[in-house]
Amino acid sequence: MSDLSVRFFGVRGSIPVPGSEFTAGGNTSCLEVCAGDTRIILDAGSGLRVLGNERMAKGPRHSTILLSHLHWDHVCGLPFFTPIYVPGHRVEIATGPNGVMPVEAAIQSLFKAPFFPVDYSQLGGTLTTRELRANDRFEIGDITITMAKLNHPDPVYGYRLEHAGQSIVYATDTEHYSCVDPTLKKLAAGADILIYDSQYTPEEYPSKVGWGHSTWQAGAELAKAAGVPQLVLFHHDPGRTDGELERIERAARTYLPGAVAAREGMVLWARDAERAATAA
Ligand SMILES: [Zn+2]
Ligand SMILES: [Zn+2]
Repeated sequence: MSDLSVRFFGVRGSIPVPGSEFTAGGNTSCLEVCAGDTRIILDAGSGLRVLGNERMAKGPRHSTILLSHLHWDHVCGLPFFTPIYVPGHRVEIATGPNGVMPVEAAIQSLFKAPFFPVDYSQLGGTLTTRELRANDRFEIGDITITMAKLNHPDPVYGYRLEHAGQSIVYATDTEHYSCVDPTLKKLAAGADILIYDSQYTPEEYPSKVGWGHSTWQAGAELAKAAGVPQLVLFHHDPGRTDGELERIERAARTYLPGAVAAREGMVLWARDAERAATAA
């Protein structure tokens, strides 16, 4: 029996940030969740480019990408995901309704002049899209996925990925408002790892109400309420330096010992979450 794991290719929110102050990771949202041969990509931010290079070198030749939503920072890696240009590669992109246009039309519009030189109709690989329902539950290979609609200026979806009694929840670009979100508490109940939007500090949040993002403190409260041992602070503000991120991580650990800031290249195993929380 294989174990569930997650690898981080992009951890930044809003826009990629290169620079020596941002070594925790400058690329925007992109993760890979694995269980045995099943590999699911979550979001297509700029981190997707590196994952695409890896897939060209080692496979697999079939990629499934689940998008939380279609904001730029979550799709800007798609035009630079090499498999979509190469015959023999298949890429499926799935997400929930965006309230404006069918998902296929939205993805097509990313490959259009005058914004990009390669038209959707000229992609060499096989690219397909699938529109999910807001509260869908379905399987991809050995992983069962449950969705929930979260709180953001445009519709955004959280994903719970389960395999062999282990589970990882991905909830980014969501605002907590004044109490623990009951929808998220239900989605995350009893999970091993919660990856959560921590764009703002509690001090910054009052001037950002309604912008659709959350804080490490709201993440810690949610993790406690849902009984999740390991909280992963994610979607770091583009201005957040390595030093600030370390301070935030320390503060979060006083609330929840298993809190950790997401960093590019990091790999976490669901089976280790409990131990990581008690050993911290
Ligand atoms: Zn975002
Ligand atoms: Zn967003």
